[in-house]
Amino acid sequence: MNRDDSTHELAECLEQLRWVFAGYRAGGLQDWKHGPRKSRDEILPAAPDHTGEKLSRISSELAGCTRCRLHCGRNNLVFGEGSAESGLVFVGEGPGFDEDRQGRPFVGRAGKLLDKMIFAIGLQRREVYICNVVKCRPPDNRAPQPDETAACSPFLFRQIEALGPKVICALGMSAAQALLGNSRPISQLRGKVQLWRGIPMICTYHPAYLLRSPSQKAAAWQDLKEVLKLLDP
Ligand code: URA
Repeated sequence: MNRDDSTHELAECLEQLRWVFAGYRAGGLQDWKHGPRKSRDEILPAAPDHTGEKLSRISSELAGCTRCRLHCGRNNLVFGEGSAESGLVFVGEGPGFDEDRQGRPFVGRAGKLLDKMIFAIGLQRREVYICNVVKCRPPDNRAPQPDETAACSPFLFRQIEALGPKVICALGMSAAQALLGNSRPISQLRGKVQLWRGIPMICTYHPAYLLRSPSQKAAAWQDLKEVLKLLDP
């Protein structure tokens, strides 16, 4: 390589470096020597959020659902509501009388207690997402039967995937067992972080059970504190 060639190569290298640093500056890394490094999320534009579209698609697939016997007594299908902006999704068992009337989850007595539980961890109801394992009311508020859970849970799973929460809180045995695919009682599942497809999950008592057994509220409060820790490590 003669002198002219190496000068030319050096000039090209410098030009390339100029572009690299121009790119860093444009990306907000001008202080790379002195300032704190910016995270990838601060530099790259946020990925478009398709959560709403995904949820609408799942909800429209459920419109007029007759996949299990629960549709027979249904007034309204209760898909779920709220937002995953806080990163928290609550999963209950299935709609009761009030929920079936209004088409919204947890709006009866148990719902009022759930609202208080959410408030106790510093959140508003609209900042969390609330849904159920089955979307139609089981008669006489009985627990969903295994075939009903099997028919509905693929939709629940897609719903949770679409929301991409940081933490799931399973309310009661039906939710915990449907998500974990086991039949262990809530007393064995609570008190320890479970995982649903890699997402941390806390299992706690159902608010309806807490209304009947207020002495268990202290244990539920411990569970909620774990939820909070996982949300805000
Ligand atoms: N119980 C549930 O499990 N879900 C509701 O939506 C209401 C009561």
